[in-house]
Amino acid sequence: PPVTATPQQLAPRRRTRQILVGSVPVGGDARVTVQTMTTTPTADVDATLQQIAEVTAAGCDIIRVAVPSQDDADVLPRIVERSPIPVIADIHFQPRYVFQAIDAGCAAVRVNPGNIKRFDDKIAEISAAATAAGVPIRIGVNAGSLDPRLLAKYGKATPEALVESALWECSLFEEHGFQSLKIAVKHHDPLTVIDAYRQLAQRCDYPLHLGVTEAGTAMQGSIKSAVAFGILLSEGIGDTIRVSLSTSPVEQVKAGCHILSSLGLRPRKLEIVSCPGCGRLQVDIHRLATQVEAAFDGFPHPLRVAVMGCVVNGPGEAREADIGVSSGNGKGQIFVQGRTVRTVPESRIVEALLEEALKLTQATGAE
Ligand code: SF4
Repeated sequence: PPVTATPQQLAPRRRTRQILVGSVPVGGDARVTVQTMTTTPTADVDATLQQIAEVTAAGCDIIRVAVPSQDDADVLPRIVERSPIPVIADIHFQPRYVFQAIDAGCAAVRVNPGNIKRFDDKIAEISAAATAAGVPIRIGVNAGSLDPRLLAKYGKATPEALVESALWECSLFEEHGFQSLKIAVKHHDPLTVIDAYRQLAQRCDYPLHLGVTEAGTAMQGSIKSAVAFGILLSEGIGDTIRVSLSTSPVEQVKAGCHILSSLGLRPRKLEIVSCPGCGRLQVDIHRLATQVEAAFDGFPHPLRVAVMGCVVNGPGEAREADIGVSSGNGKGQIFVQGRTVRTVPESRIVEALLEEALKLTQATGAE
């Protein structure tokens, strides 16, 4: 069954004001959402929509597209119209694209105050346009593009500098009565991220978008993000997350979904439980686990599939799962809900697991 965190396991969710990113609520009592960014040139509409479809299938709730040029701003209406999930326009250098994104029907706009020229002068106009369209704005402060005034004051992108930058920009919007805001303060160091978000959580009630920026390659970045998000979410801090990895957006979304399901904040779809292997190993467990994971990719039912490498602990572990295999001597003993159902040659293990998974989900009427 899907695992859900109990109040005893995680601190109560911090109370934040809720905003609507298109049809997706963020903050308040809304579930924690996963988002990512496309990597295609935004102006390449077909490629961008294809990537949006792929991340949506992987579990993405909200997509962000970069708008670095006029060509990108011009195609926003076509992307918004055909995207299955809300589209956020990410705007760095040109305030006029903010207005174009709002006119295009984008669900939200992300601005980086450190990068938008004469941004402060435009806030009244942006507030008015965003209010009229019901579009929230994300203040996205990034260590790499911190306001030079704050860099001079703090010497580097400290948690205090990131927080001051974000709250300063929020105050400028607040002066115009605009509070449909969401905040991110990103840094590549997870400890700085944790400190900064804890401070923000103390000082405002805006929903928070968690991110460790430039986190690195798939392994390093996933671990850094999981550590930072895990600690913050366990303290009730965080309303939406983005895992930034030097890999495809689909992998980023999968990592985000795994982090949430590990914390019980999102139902588990499918879980592969595989042993690490040891001197008792009687099969190439790394290859087998990878093959099983690939074969079950996209399997829609919340099964736990055990892949065990020998007959010592294998049968016991495999019995704990919905289905499983305990391998050894060129064979695989297949278990379904605690019962051995058959033994197959090693070359047929993956196929047999899939067959049993389908039978099981059909028999139990899983949806
Ligand atoms: Fe070692 Fe067997 Fe346990 Fe795998 S299941 S770690 S091979 S004892």
